[in-house]
Amino acid sequence: MIEFSQVSKSFGGKRALDSVSFEVEEGKTSILLGTSGSGKSTILRLITGLIEADSGTITVRGKKLSRTNIEEFRKTFGYVIQEGGLFPHMTAKDNVSLMAKYYSWDENRIRQRMSELAKLMSLPEDLLGKFPSQLSGGQRQRVSLMRALMLDPELLLLDEPLGALDPITRHDLQDQLKEIFANLGKTVVIVTHDLAEADCLGHQTFLLNHGKIIQRGSLKSMASNPNEPFVKRFIEAQRPAITI
Ligand code: ADP
Ligand code: MG
Repeated sequence: MIEFSQVSKSFGGKRALDSVSFEVEEGKTSILLGTSGSGKSTILRLITGLIEADSGTITVRGKKLSRTNIEEFRKTFGYVIQEGGLFPHMTAKDNVSLMAKYYSWDENRIRQRMSELAKLMSLPEDLLGKFPSQLSGGQRQRVSLMRALMLDPELLLLDEPLGALDPITRHDLQDQLKEIFANLGKTVVIVTHDLAEADCLGHQTFLLNHGKIIQRGSLKSMASNPNEPFVKRFIEAQRPAITI
């Protein structure tokens, strides 16, 4: 569905992405995995058109992404930025319905969709009247996901959507998201540095280091057949806290 071909991007002379090529498959969940600063968020921001590549091409459904078609493409995806990105001065409800209002949905349609999403994300509807600061981290993440899903986009781009959650909430939300993505048949790209999350949610994983994709495929194949010492080190660094 999305194809990167030799895409490079620098910021102030420093390379954030170095000739990256990969493909996001339709209806599947692709994981961008890697250490902090490896270029994961930069990839998502290139897909959204927030920034432009210095070289290389990005195609979506066979069409090259450009300044002229990015607006049209934007309507087809939901994006959760790192830290959720909810507007603090707006209630959860206003955050979720923002784009629907922009596209002039009527009140009834908005209410219905909101209720559907609250159910889907297991968020009690009475919380929708609250401001982000009055919600727990887990609730805020659910609201961010609801906002991304509001227009029923075919593509979801999620930048560490479950970061900063306690292990139990995170675990539960991972299970829920896995089911939701499978049921809705969405194409999903998730950025994470968490191996367990990649393992739970991903069909295909791309491991990045210093702006390059070092290895791709399943985590199992990375563990059993690491391309280079970094892969082994990345996987071994996330050992379980206790072994029973
Ligand atoms: P990740 O999401 O994997 O942690 P990023 O894609 O955010 O990494 O960043 C990759 C590299 O590019 C980092 O070195 C980061 O400091 C740099 N970078 C990203 N965005 C900008 C920006 N807007 N200005 C300057 N440097 C940036
Ligand atoms: Mg990031």
